Amino acid sequence: MKYILNGSKLSVCALGALLLCPGGAAVAQNPPPADHPAVTVKGQTYTPRSILARNMGTPEDQTTQFTPHKIIGNIYYVGTKTLSSFLIATPEGNILIDSTYERNVPTIAKSVADLGFKFSDVKILLGNHAHGDHQEGDALVKQMTGAQVMAMAEDVPLLQAMKPGGKEHPIDRILHDGDRVTLGGTTLVAHLTPGHTRGCTTWTTTAADGGKTYNVMFGCSLRPPAMITPANAEEFTRAFKTVRALPCDIQLGDHGAQYNMQEKYAKLKDGNPNPFIDPASCTLEADVQEAMFHAVLAEQQAAWP
Ligand SMILES: [Zn+2]
Repeated sequence: MKYILNGSKLSVCALGALLLCPGGAAVAQNPPPADHPAVTVKGQTYTPRSILARNMGTPEDQTTQFTPHKIIGNIYYVGTKTLSSFLIATPEGNILIDSTYERNVPTIAKSVADLGFKFSDVKILLGNHAHGDHQEGDALVKQMTGAQVMAMAEDVPLLQAMKPGGKEHPIDRILHDGDRVTLGGTTLVAHLTPGHTRGCTTWTTTAADGGKTYNVMFGCSLRPPAMITPANAEEFTRAFKTVRALPCDIQLGDHGAQYNMQEKYAKLKDGNPNPFIDPASCTLEADVQEAMFHAVLAEQQAAWP
Protein backbone atom coordinates (compact mmCIF):
# COMPACT_ATOMS: atom_id res chain seq x y z
CA MET A 1 0.00 0.00 0.00
CA LYS A 2 1.36 3.38 -1.00
CA TYR A 3 0.64 6.56 0.89
CA ILE A 4 0.98 9.94 -0.69
CA LEU A 5 1.97 12.65 1.75
CA ASN A 6 0.47 15.90 0.68
CA GLY A 7 -0.06 18.84 3.00
CA SER A 8 -2.70 20.48 0.88
CA LYS A 9 -6.11 20.53 2.52
CA LEU A 10 -7.76 20.72 -0.89
CA SER A 11 -6.37 17.39 -1.98
CA VAL A 12 -7.48 15.80 1.29
CA CYS A 13 -10.91 17.19 0.55
CA ALA A 14 -10.81 15.76 -2.95
CA LEU A 15 -10.07 12.35 -1.49
CA GLY A 16 -13.26 12.70 0.47
CA ALA A 17 -11.52 12.03 3.75
CA LEU A 18 -12.65 12.80 7.23
CA LEU A 19 -14.48 16.09 7.34
CA LEU A 20 -11.51 18.21 6.37
CA CYS A 21 -13.34 20.41 3.91
CA PRO A 22 -14.03 23.82 5.43
CA GLY A 23 -17.67 24.68 5.24
CA GLY A 24 -18.40 21.49 3.41
CA ALA A 25 -18.09 18.76 6.00
CA ALA A 26 -21.32 17.16 4.87
CA VAL A 27 -19.90 16.41 1.46
CA ALA A 28 -16.79 14.74 2.81
CA GLN A 29 -18.30 11.41 3.82
CA ASN A 30 -17.85 9.55 0.58
CA PRO A 31 -16.02 7.20 0.71
CA PRO A 32 -16.30 6.65 4.46
CA PRO A 33 -13.09 6.35 6.51
CA ALA A 34 -11.38 2.98 6.69
CA ASP A 35 -12.67 0.19 8.90
CA HIS A 36 -9.11 -0.35 10.18
CA PRO A 37 -7.12 -0.17 12.34
CA ALA A 38 -9.28 -1.36 15.23
CA VAL A 39 -8.56 -0.47 18.85
CA THR A 40 -10.27 -1.77 21.97
CA VAL A 41 -10.66 0.51 24.97
CA LYS A 42 -12.57 -0.55 28.09
CA GLY A 43 -14.07 -3.52 26.26
CA GLN A 44 -15.34 -1.50 23.31
CA THR A 45 -13.81 -1.81 19.85
CA TYR A 46 -13.49 1.21 17.57
CA THR A 47 -12.37 1.81 13.99
CA PRO A 48 -12.06 5.16 12.18
CA ARG A 49 -15.35 4.32 10.43
CA SER A 50 -17.20 3.38 13.59
CA ILE A 51 -15.99 6.50 15.39
CA LEU A 52 -17.19 8.79 12.62
CA ALA A 53 -20.53 6.95 12.47
CA ARG A 54 -20.86 7.21 16.25
CA ASN A 55 -20.10 10.94 16.15
CA MET A 56 -22.32 11.93 13.23
CA GLY A 57 -25.24 9.48 13.31
CA THR A 58 -27.56 9.76 10.33
CA PRO A 59 -28.08 12.97 8.34
CA GLU A 60 -31.41 13.19 10.18
CA ASP A 61 -29.68 12.88 13.59
CA GLN A 62 -27.43 15.77 12.64
CA THR A 63 -30.37 18.10 12.10
CA THR A 64 -32.99 16.83 14.56
CA GLN A 65 -33.37 18.73 17.83
CA PHE A 66 -32.32 16.77 20.91
CA THR A 67 -34.39 17.66 23.97
CA PRO A 68 -32.72 20.79 25.33
CA HIS A 69 -31.70 20.25 28.92
CA LYS A 70 -29.77 21.63 31.84
CA ILE A 71 -26.42 19.86 32.29
CA ILE A 72 -25.30 21.56 35.46
CA GLY A 73 -25.43 25.03 37.01
CA ASN A 74 -25.86 27.57 34.24
CA ILE A 75 -24.84 25.18 31.43
CA TYR A 76 -27.42 23.80 29.00
CA TYR A 77 -27.47 21.54 25.93
CA VAL A 78 -29.14 23.13 22.90
CA GLY A 79 -27.76 21.02 20.03
CA THR A 80 -29.11 18.30 17.76
CA LYS A 81 -29.04 14.54 18.35
CA THR A 82 -25.38 14.30 17.33
CA LEU A 83 -23.98 17.84 16.99
CA SER A 84 -23.42 19.64 20.27
CA SER A 85 -24.26 23.23 21.02
CA PHE A 86 -24.04 24.55 24.57
CA LEU A 87 -25.62 27.60 26.17
CA ILE A 88 -24.04 29.21 29.23
CA ALA A 89 -26.51 31.58 30.82
CA THR A 90 -25.36 34.60 32.80
CA PRO A 91 -27.10 37.66 34.25
CA GLU A 92 -25.43 39.80 31.55
CA GLY A 93 -26.42 37.66 28.58
CA ASN A 94 -25.48 34.25 27.31
CA ILE A 95 -22.56 32.46 25.71
CA LEU A 96 -23.13 29.93 22.94
CA ILE A 97 -20.53 27.31 22.05
CA ASP A 98 -20.93 25.98 18.49
CA SER A 99 -23.47 27.02 15.89
CA THR A 100 -23.10 23.65 14.05
CA TYR A 101 -24.35 23.59 10.43
CA GLU A 102 -26.02 26.79 9.31
CA ARG A 103 -29.27 24.90 8.66
CA ASN A 104 -29.36 23.96 12.38
CA VAL A 105 -29.28 27.53 13.70
CA PRO A 106 -33.11 27.88 13.82
CA THR A 107 -33.24 24.58 15.75
CA ILE A 108 -30.65 25.84 18.23
CA ALA A 109 -32.60 29.10 18.59
CA LYS A 110 -35.74 27.05 19.28
CA SER A 111 -33.92 24.98 21.92
CA VAL A 112 -32.72 28.18 23.61
CA ALA A 113 -36.31 29.49 23.63
CA ASP A 114 -37.68 26.13 24.85
CA LEU A 115 -35.44 26.50 27.91
CA GLY A 116 -36.90 29.95 28.57
CA PHE A 117 -34.01 32.05 27.29
CA LYS A 118 -33.92 34.56 24.47
CA PHE A 119 -31.72 33.74 21.50
CA SER A 120 -31.12 37.47 21.07
CA ASP A 121 -29.43 37.43 24.50
CA VAL A 122 -26.49 35.45 23.07
CA LYS A 123 -23.66 37.96 23.48
CA ILE A 124 -20.66 35.75 22.76
CA LEU A 125 -20.28 32.91 20.27
CA LEU A 126 -17.38 30.50 20.78
CA GLY A 127 -16.32 27.48 18.75
CA ASN A 128 -14.94 24.02 19.28
CA HIS A 129 -13.10 23.68 15.97
CA ALA A 130 -13.26 25.00 12.44
CA HIS A 131 -15.21 22.26 10.71
CA GLY A 132 -18.60 22.90 9.15
CA ASP A 133 -20.51 20.57 11.46
CA HIS A 134 -19.51 22.77 14.40
CA GLN A 135 -19.07 26.33 13.14
CA GLU A 136 -20.70 26.74 9.74
CA GLY A 137 -23.62 28.65 11.29
CA ASP A 138 -21.51 31.35 12.96
CA ALA A 139 -22.41 34.09 10.46
CA LEU A 140 -26.13 33.40 10.83
CA VAL A 141 -25.91 33.38 14.66
CA LYS A 142 -24.14 36.73 14.49
CA GLN A 143 -26.79 38.04 12.12
CA MET A 144 -29.60 36.93 14.45
CA THR A 145 -28.05 37.96 17.78
CA GLY A 146 -25.24 40.46 17.20
CA ALA A 147 -22.97 38.22 19.30
CA GLN A 148 -19.22 38.77 19.41
CA VAL A 149 -17.62 35.84 17.61
CA MET A 150 -14.31 34.65 19.03
CA ALA A 151 -11.90 32.18 17.46
CA MET A 152 -8.57 30.54 18.25
CA ALA A 153 -5.87 32.11 16.08
CA GLU A 154 -4.73 28.79 14.60
CA ASP A 155 -8.26 28.06 13.31
CA VAL A 156 -8.76 31.46 11.66
CA PRO A 157 -7.64 30.41 8.14
CA LEU A 158 -10.08 27.47 8.07
CA LEU A 159 -12.88 29.65 9.46
CA GLN A 160 -12.25 32.35 6.87
CA ALA A 161 -12.66 29.72 4.16
CA MET A 162 -16.09 28.79 5.59
CA LYS A 163 -18.59 30.93 3.69
CA PRO A 164 -22.09 29.44 3.64
CA GLY A 165 -24.14 31.20 0.98
CA GLY A 166 -21.15 33.47 0.36
CA LYS A 167 -21.34 35.01 3.85
CA GLU A 168 -18.01 36.08 5.34
CA HIS A 169 -17.15 34.26 8.54
CA PRO A 170 -17.33 36.81 11.35
CA ILE A 171 -14.40 37.04 13.79
CA ASP A 172 -14.48 39.80 16.40
CA ARG A 173 -11.76 38.60 18.74
CA ILE A 174 -8.81 36.32 18.07
CA LEU A 175 -7.92 34.04 20.96
CA HIS A 176 -4.68 32.41 22.02
CA ASP A 177 -3.94 29.44 24.23
CA GLY A 178 -4.90 30.24 27.83
CA ASP A 179 -7.09 33.26 26.99
CA ARG A 180 -10.10 33.87 29.19
CA VAL A 181 -13.59 34.87 28.09
CA THR A 182 -15.76 36.38 30.82
CA LEU A 183 -19.42 37.39 30.85
CA GLY A 184 -21.74 38.01 33.80
CA GLY A 185 -19.50 36.29 36.36
CA THR A 186 -18.74 33.18 34.26
CA THR A 187 -15.24 32.68 32.87
CA LEU A 188 -14.28 30.18 30.20
CA VAL A 189 -10.64 29.36 29.49
CA ALA A 190 -9.51 28.46 25.97
CA HIS A 191 -6.99 25.61 25.81
CA LEU A 192 -5.29 24.95 22.49
CA THR A 193 -5.58 21.20 21.86
CA PRO A 194 -4.46 20.96 18.22
CA GLY A 195 -4.39 18.02 15.85
CA HIS A 196 -7.94 17.50 14.59
CA THR A 197 -7.66 21.13 13.46
CA ARG A 198 -4.72 23.40 14.16
CA GLY A 199 -6.82 25.60 16.47
CA CYS A 200 -8.96 22.90 18.09
CA THR A 201 -10.08 24.45 21.38
CA THR A 202 -10.96 22.70 24.62
CA TRP A 203 -12.93 25.04 26.85
CA THR A 204 -13.01 24.79 30.64
CA THR A 205 -15.15 26.55 33.21
CA THR A 206 -16.64 25.92 36.63
CA ALA A 207 -20.30 25.53 37.47
CA ALA A 208 -21.97 25.86 40.86
CA ASP A 209 -24.74 23.43 41.67
CA GLY A 210 -26.25 22.21 44.94
CA GLY A 211 -23.73 24.19 46.98
CA LYS A 212 -20.72 22.66 45.22
CA THR A 213 -18.45 23.83 42.43
CA TYR A 214 -17.61 21.51 39.54
CA ASN A 215 -14.96 21.63 36.82
CA VAL A 216 -16.54 21.41 33.40
CA MET A 217 -14.54 20.56 30.25
CA PHE A 218 -15.91 21.07 26.75
CA GLY A 219 -13.54 18.74 24.92
CA CYS A 220 -12.40 19.36 21.37
CA SER A 221 -12.36 16.52 18.89
CA LEU A 222 -9.22 14.40 19.20
CA ARG A 223 -10.07 12.22 16.23
CA PRO A 224 -6.99 11.68 14.05
CA PRO A 225 -7.15 11.92 10.25
CA ALA A 226 -6.45 8.98 7.91
CA MET A 227 -2.96 10.34 7.28
CA ILE A 228 -0.91 11.77 10.15
CA THR A 229 2.01 13.98 9.13
CA PRO A 230 4.96 14.46 11.54
CA ALA A 231 3.80 18.02 12.32
CA ASN A 232 0.28 16.76 12.95
CA ALA A 233 1.61 13.98 15.18
CA GLU A 234 3.45 16.54 17.27
CA GLU A 235 0.22 18.55 17.67
CA PHE A 236 -1.83 15.53 18.73
CA THR A 237 0.84 14.50 21.25
CA ARG A 238 0.64 17.96 22.83
CA ALA A 239 -3.17 17.88 22.80
CA PHE A 240 -3.44 14.50 24.56
CA LYS A 241 -1.07 15.74 27.26
CA THR A 242 -2.98 19.01 27.70
CA VAL A 243 -6.40 17.36 27.91
CA ARG A 244 -5.26 14.82 30.48
CA ALA A 245 -3.99 17.59 32.75
CA LEU A 246 -7.21 19.64 32.77
CA PRO A 247 -9.36 19.66 35.91
CA CYS A 248 -12.58 17.79 35.12
CA ASP A 249 -15.69 16.56 36.90
CA ILE A 250 -17.94 16.84 33.85
CA GLN A 251 -16.65 16.08 30.38
CA LEU A 252 -18.64 17.33 27.41
CA GLY A 253 -17.74 17.20 23.73
CA ASP A 254 -18.52 18.50 20.26
CA HIS A 255 -20.49 15.30 19.57
CA GLY A 256 -22.74 13.91 22.29
CA ALA A 257 -21.36 10.41 21.68
CA GLN A 258 -18.01 11.59 23.07
CA TYR A 259 -19.59 11.71 26.51
CA ASN A 260 -22.49 9.27 26.16
CA MET A 261 -24.94 12.14 26.20
CA GLN A 262 -28.03 10.15 25.30
CA GLU A 263 -27.43 7.49 27.99
CA LYS A 264 -26.65 10.14 30.60
CA TYR A 265 -29.65 12.23 29.61
CA ALA A 266 -31.90 9.18 30.07
CA LYS A 267 -30.73 8.97 33.70
CA LEU A 268 -31.45 12.64 34.36
CA LYS A 269 -34.28 12.55 36.85
CA ASP A 270 -35.08 14.62 39.90
CA GLY A 271 -33.66 12.93 42.96
CA ASN A 272 -31.00 10.99 41.02
CA PRO A 273 -27.38 12.06 41.27
CA ASN A 274 -26.53 14.22 38.23
CA PRO A 275 -25.35 11.67 35.62
CA PHE A 276 -23.17 14.26 33.90
CA ILE A 277 -20.91 14.45 36.98
CA ASP A 278 -18.62 11.61 35.96
CA PRO A 279 -14.93 12.35 36.64
CA ALA A 280 -14.02 8.70 36.03
CA SER A 281 -14.89 9.03 32.34
CA CYS A 282 -13.24 12.43 31.82
CA THR A 283 -10.32 10.92 29.89
CA LEU A 284 -12.23 8.12 28.14
CA GLU A 285 -12.43 9.98 24.83
CA ALA A 286 -8.72 10.84 25.04
CA ASP A 287 -7.98 7.16 25.75
CA VAL A 288 -9.95 6.03 22.69
CA GLN A 289 -8.48 8.64 20.35
CA GLU A 290 -4.91 8.29 21.61
CA ALA A 291 -5.10 4.52 21.08
CA MET A 292 -6.44 5.16 17.57
CA PHE A 293 -3.74 7.78 16.92
CA HIS A 294 -0.99 5.26 17.74
CA ALA A 295 -2.70 2.51 15.73
CA VAL A 296 -3.04 4.75 12.66
CA LEU A 297 0.61 5.83 12.99
CA ALA A 298 1.74 2.21 13.32
CA GLU A 299 -0.27 1.18 10.25
CA GLN A 300 1.12 4.14 8.34
CA GLN A 301 4.72 3.33 9.30
CA ALA A 302 4.27 -0.36 8.42
CA ALA A 303 3.12 0.69 4.94
CA TRP A 304 6.41 2.41 4.16
CA PRO A 305 9.08 0.15 2.68
ZN1 LIG B 1 -14.12 17.93 12.99
